Amino acid sequence: MFKPQAIYYEKDILTYPLGKELMQKYEEVPKFEIENHNNIEEMRKKENAEFPFLKRNLIIGTRKTHKYVENHKVSDYLVPYTSSGCTASCLYCYLVCNYNKCAYLRLFVNREQMLEKIIKTAEKADKELTFEIGSNSDLILENTITGNLVWTIENFSHTTQGKLTFPTKFDMVDDLLPLDHQGKVIVRMSVNPQEIIQKVEFGTSRLAGRIQAINKLKQAGYPLGILIAPVIFVDNWKELYGELIQTLAEKLSEEVKKDVFFEIIFMTYSYIHTKINEEAFPNAISLYDKEKMTGRGRGKYWYKEQLRKEGEIFFREKMKQYFPENQILYIV
Ligand code: SF4
Repeated sequence: MFKPQAIYYEKDILTYPLGKELMQKYEEVPKFEIENHNNIEEMRKKENAEFPFLKRNLIIGTRKTHKYVENHKVSDYLVPYTSSGCTASCLYCYLVCNYNKCAYLRLFVNREQMLEKIIKTAEKADKELTFEIGSNSDLILENTITGNLVWTIENFSHTTQGKLTFPTKFDMVDDLLPLDHQGKVIVRMSVNPQEIIQKVEFGTSRLAGRIQAINKLKQAGYPLGILIAPVIFVDNWKELYGELIQTLAEKLSEEVKKDVFFEIIFMTYSYIHTKINEEAFPNAISLYDKEKMTGRGRGKYWYKEQLRKEGEIFFREKMKQYFPENQILYIV
């Protein structure tokens, strides 16, 4: 269970029930008032090497911008929701982009305002819309601190239109199981071979726990997806990902296998990741591989086209072998 070493908070959170609740929950933790969660001077000045220590803090504020971004994958819109950043440290995490500003866990207590906007947008629409509420953080992890996911599902499930979705790398799903979700919440579990989880996805749940969580969620009636993501082309990637797909086929329940859908995403990386990881995790494996990667503009890298093609053929073949009836939404 995450216990913050310090809390940085905006004063007006005390006017929100969740703000008061969190301040009380962490009564013993040292607290510092801040002007704005987007600009914490003290954290901006920290060295890259201090990255893992910064993640032990909790920042609490209110979300001021509520702009939806159109999306054309599982959801129709990416929606800024109740948190940003995370306490885990996956070496490729795209939230690291600007880490002094956004990589540590920030909680936003004006959840009523955010959920109300989703409900109104959903109910006004002339078709069923799906809202991605987990693109800035991991909501299963956040839920262990705030209970926000339980609150969200309870307050959203009886609205007339719309669906919610989020991805996760965590297995703490028990609080979600008894909820009357009405099939309106699509949970997408992200998986990787255990060896990669161990070497790259620091602080997240083990593969076995994630698989068990998928089975439990299915039993509780949730619609489910599995993200094989991000695929990292380490030297023995074929062996590792082949075993992963085989393990999924063996360990997922028959109910899950009936209709779970897949998304497969190849890793992208950046110069900033390389710099931070070299200093913050000097003993970790290096994810930048100049033989296999190529520039994608503005300090970003992705795998060369030929490797991505080889990857796509490999995954399509393996999926056909082990999950012939299941839909692959995309491989990118
Ligand atoms: S669990 Fe998700 S949000 Fe957290 S560090 Fe890993 S990729 Fe980033």
